[in-house]
Amino acid sequence: MDLSAIADNWRTLAALSAPAECAAVVKANAYGLGIDKVAPALWRVGARTFFVAHLKEAQQLRGLLPDATIYALNGLLPGTAGLFAASDIRPVLGSAPEIGEWSDYCRDNSVSLPAAIHVDTGMHRLGIALEEAARLSETYRMLGFTPSLIMSHLACADTPGHVLTARQRLVFADVVQRFPRVKASLANSAGTLMGREFRFDLVRPGIFLYGGVAITGVPPLRPVVRLEAKVIQVSTAPAGETVGYGATERLSRDSRLATVHIGYADGFFRAAGSTDARKGAEAVLAGRRCPLVGRISMDLATLDITDLAPDAVMRGDTAVFLGEGITVDELAQKAGTIGYEVLTALGGRYLRRYIGG
Ligand SMILES: *Cc1c(COP(=O)(O)O)cnc(C)c1O
Repeated sequence: MDLSAIADNWRTLAALSAPAECAAVVKANAYGLGIDKVAPALWRVGARTFFVAHLKEAQQLRGLLPDATIYALNGLLPGTAGLFAASDIRPVLGSAPEIGEWSDYCRDNSVSLPAAIHVDTGMHRLGIALEEAARLSETYRMLGFTPSLIMSHLACADTPGHVLTARQRLVFADVVQRFPRVKASLANSAGTLMGREFRFDLVRPGIFLYGGVAITGVPPLRPVVRLEAKVIQVSTAPAGETVGYGATERLSRDSRLATVHIGYADGFFRAAGSTDARKGAEAVLAGRRCPLVGRISMDLATLDITDLAPDAVMRGDTAVFLGEGITVDELAQKAGTIGYEVLTALGGRYLRRYIGG
């Protein structure tokens, strides 16, 4: 995990976004990379506002960054307002009951605590409806709490030119006008890249910080993760034989194989395996791309090293599954998923080494 790359990627987005503030989304253990290392590295380069999903994540982050502004995107579950207040965590309030509960808590305790308000501009996942937002804009000064951020979330920002993105921006710009002096935030990574009119006062990038693709066709920033696995056996098999569970791939030539220490229990998706009908993921061994052959097992996967020199690969050598030009998004595509899922699935058995930062 290259913390310098994350720091550089944040600086790039912060420079692009100014004068809007560049926050950092570190939910799900900083997209699987390790919030305990990633969040302090981001703080050191200047990030001051952080978003996580859950209260638990926010409490952990508070322990790491005592002075950060922390928002919990998934908002308040019933009865948790006191826990948010105790750790100075700002809930992102996405429904009338949540707004009511935070308000009541503040009134009962004679404090006016900050919170974000999430307005649904068309994604229909979280957030108060537009009519509710309009009503709230007339009454929020009487509420017990202090709205510190009006936010919404883009549903299709990864797809260039999607009509919903343009519509959400217009709707959000209208909502924001009703809350003068409250900061506004609409953009995830993709939104941040789409231009000033999407950035408002604060941007909330996640995936782009971690070396993933944010918008289809727009190259990622610096890669962050290098994923390696050791070769535990080198063997040969004649043409016509099959490799792995289910015998899904038949060898078309006499082959040399390298079986490596990685499997779906490590979050290395089974869907990235190889069959006769569909080629799977690749790894770099001895400086060359080698294709997976056959299915990925729980703890093992097999690479075809026939095209390498006979003594190029030895037991104990390292195969690179991410890095050396293999991106998170390439691997994701081979597994029929997205870079976000490749990162957040990185398993607990890997030895994690952090460099830089
Ligand atoms: C996850 C998330 C983000 C960050 O999205 P990326 O696409 O990773 O940049 C921003 N805002 C909200 C509400 C999110 O849930």
